[in-house]
Amino acid sequence: MREADVVVVGAGAAGLSLARRLTDPAGPGGPVPRVVVVEPPPGPLSSPPRTWCFWERGPGPLDAHVCAHWDRLRVRGADGDRFEGDGYRYKMIRSADFLPAVTAELAGNGRVELVTASVTGVADGPGAARVDAVDAAGRTVSVRARWVFDSRPPRPLPPARTTLLQHFRGWFVRTEADRFEPGVAELMDFRTPQPRHGLSFAYVLPLTARQALVEYTEFSPRPLDDAGYRAALEHYTGRVRPLGAFAVTGTEQGVIPMTDARFPRQRGRRVFAIGAAGGATRPATGYTFAAVQRQAGAVAAACRAGRRPLPPPPHARRHLVMDAAWLRALDRGRIDGAEFFARLFRDNPLPRVLDFLDGRSTALGDLALGLRCPVGPMARSLAELPVLPRRARDVRPTPSPERRPDAPLS
Ligand SMILES: Cc1cc2nc3c(=O)[nH]c(=O)nc-3n(C[C@H](O)[C@H](O)[C@H](O)COP(=O)(O)OP(=O)(O)OC[C@H]3O[C@@H](n4cnc5c(N)ncnc54)[C@H](O)[C@@H]3O)c2cc1C
Repeated sequence: MREADVVVVGAGAAGLSLARRLTDPAGPGGPVPRVVVVEPPPGPLSSPPRTWCFWERGPGPLDAHVCAHWDRLRVRGADGDRFEGDGYRYKMIRSADFLPAVTAELAGNGRVELVTASVTGVADGPGAARVDAVDAAGRTVSVRARWVFDSRPPRPLPPARTTLLQHFRGWFVRTEADRFEPGVAELMDFRTPQPRHGLSFAYVLPLTARQALVEYTEFSPRPLDDAGYRAALEHYTGRVRPLGAFAVTGTEQGVIPMTDARFPRQRGRRVFAIGAAGGATRPATGYTFAAVQRQAGAVAAACRAGRRPLPPPPHARRHLVMDAAWLRALDRGRIDGAEFFARLFRDNPLPRVLDFLDGRSTALGDLALGLRCPVGPMARSLAELPVLPRRARDVRPTPSPERRPDAPLS
């Protein structure tokens, strides 16, 4: 049986960010804990590569890992109207850069042990918690520790009043002529055909004048199938925003649950959930990475100060309530999702919207936003929340029957 102060289960965004903050020699005061990080060998349990985007004002602590950034942000309404602004820098980190770099950094830190094994059980205990895992050779690996932080993706999702999926496929494209504005990130272009249930938009992050990540995204009950995403991207790059001749140099695909489920951060006296498993995903947007970083900092500070390191709530309660009302209104078809977002960006200064979406806004700022929303449907959805039952939903990445390959997009 191995012994440690902390076991981190999962070496994804949350797990590695936490291990790094816990053992950073220049980190918060207090003794540096001995940390064991357990991550499965590459295979079905591993999270596929992805890009993480987030925004902050100017430089930040992760800039060494940032592969691209944009100082101007744009949203386009369904009619093509553009709303744009600055004040925030939108940054992109590739998991394929970040995870190996942080793993190498941790491997050189004498306080960290990296274990390649799949965790099969986590048990709480009065004096210590225990993590059991199985390595690639089938051997059992057990670690006893004071604290365990578990970032394994929750399956199934906890019961919720509303659960939609943010699902997307992106193409990294290289065009033959200049087609992009490198300093401008287009967060949402609502000129895409809207699905019957939910909303859709394109997301365009130019890397150069001829290279960009172009993503088709839906917030809806089910993912599309392969042909559905291909048709949506071909439609966008061919008709909505003609790119001319281009090559697809890479793809990114994902499904992020957008849910008002409760994700308990405390699973026992000594066992905590972090990352998406601990509710770090903002229900109305799917953004998670910035909340994960804030949480890692707070947990590391508590641990090193000798306090009980219960992760702080990743999002303010009022933001979760507002998101729950919005999800309900979208799910019930009470609001036009595309118009809602276009109006949010059209009627409010960009920093106010971004502060809200990142959970940094004040109650007064939120009120100002709320008053510019469609008040009737939002108020009705809000009023319903206390009486709606939370139900389990089987969220499987099955293609949407609403958008078969033979169904035209427009
Ligand atoms: C394609 C995609 C793009 C995204 N883009 C953004 C973005 O731009 N901005 C943003 O804010 N959010 C984004 N998200 C949402 C969120 O930031 C990511 O999902 C993020 O990776 C969540 O971090 P995590 O550590 O909670 O989960 P993960 O990064 O998925 O880490 C979970 C870890 O647990 C490990 N694991 C699984 N099973 C076991 C086991 N049995 N034992 C041990 N370890 C196990 C996995 O191997 C993995 O390393 C995106 C999500 C996806 C899917």
